[in-house]
Amino acid sequence: MAKIIRSSVGRKSSVSSAPRKSAKKAVKASPKPAAKKAPKPKSPKLKPPKPRPWTPAEVHEAFSRFRKANPEPKGELEHLNPYTLLVAVVLSAQATDAGVNKATRALFAVADTPAKMLELGEEKVREYIKTIGLYRNKAKNVIALSEKLIAEFGGEVPRTRAEIETLPGAGRKTANVVLNMAYGEHTMAVDTHVFRVGNRTGMAPGNTPLEVELGLEKVIPSEFMLHAHHWLILHGRYTCLARKPRCEVCLINDLCRWPEKTV
Ligand code: SF4
Repeated sequence: MAKIIRSSVGRKSSVSSAPRKSAKKAVKASPKPAAKKAPKPKSPKLKPPKPRPWTPAEVHEAFSRFRKANPEPKGELEHLNPYTLLVAVVLSAQATDAGVNKATRALFAVADTPAKMLELGEEKVREYIKTIGLYRNKAKNVIALSEKLIAEFGGEVPRTRAEIETLPGAGRKTANVVLNMAYGEHTMAVDTHVFRVGNRTGMAPGNTPLEVELGLEKVIPSEFMLHAHHWLILHGRYTCLARKPRCEVCLINDLCRWPEKTV
């Protein structure tokens, strides 16, 4: 009987050491926690449908109307030559064309070349342009870009985007304006007006100026590209206004895809 008891105790003790292992195993084998339940779909917020892309015929029609209304659109930044155009565009960042013109009329009367600008010197340039926002930094850039033009480009404004973009204060938009207005290249400078018009009309929607620029270049026929930039700027500045677009007098209101247009 005693034997029976010992052996049963032994068995118990051998069993009693087992649970650690099996507990470990149990931990290992325990099923993964149930995957989080997918959140309930929120009440559907319906996105407005993507506007139907413009057909080539519609884009042609829109620019034909712009051309008919204003065959030779002009930029509003006053300048005397490619150099003064470049300087005016650099000065126009975050400023109005009218404000820039007011300052540059007197400046360009005394300095219409890089050499004359250097002769004038940064301090005097600052005086001429002090009514324009960020004028201290802009005066510095005007002097630095004039130095670079003389040192590296024979005093001329270069004719490629890559070269213009190396000049202090000049970015892609500046390069596009200069190439278009000074050298007749088919570039599309996207400022705040062109960006708005490209998106609102649905002609070239994009999240960045570059996307809009490339979109417009893709859809606008070559015959309109020389002036397209000005037609779109003027359209944005005087008709498709940021806060209260004048849809009732808009030349392309039947083609525009903006869901909020007022006609
Ligand atoms: S219809 Fe209105 S929103 Fe559309 S382009 Fe014309 S002015 Fe702008």
